[in-house]
Parts: sequence; C-alpha cells; structure tokens
Amino acid sequence: MRVKCVICDTIERIDNDCPEAKKLQNRLIHTYMCDTCSKRIGENTIKRHKTGRFKLFRKYEVYDQYLD
Ligand SMILES: [Zn+2]
Repeated sequence: MRVKCVICDTIERIDNDCPEAKKLQNRLIHTYMCDTCSKRIGENTIKRHKTGRFKLFRKYEVYDQYLD
C-alpha cells in the first residue's frame, strides 16, 4: 500500500503485510510516519528522557523499598 508521511508528506510504499500497514488498515493508527521522521521523533524522545523529566522507573523504586 502507499502511505503518506504526516510530517514531511513523503509518499512511501510499504508492504501490505507489515505491522504498520495492518495498523492503518485496522484503524489502530490513522497516521503514518516515514523512517526519517520516526527516527527524529525517537531521538527527541530520548533527549527528553535524558533531561530527567520522565520518571519512568519511579514505580519500581517504590516496589524495591517493600522488597527490602
Ligand atoms: Zn517523514
């Protein structure tokens, strides 16, 4: 199937059987992002993680206290 990246408007052809195509067909996701854009978004997310604004492991620290 042909898909258009929501960010840069690049038209890409993806395999009908790939997970992205399945998600689009089942309306689990309504938008497609090309590799370049999803990588860039991923890098930005990692940068945000490094600033410490995301405290993903807080829950586990609490559990650790009980385990001790
Ligand atoms: Zn793109």
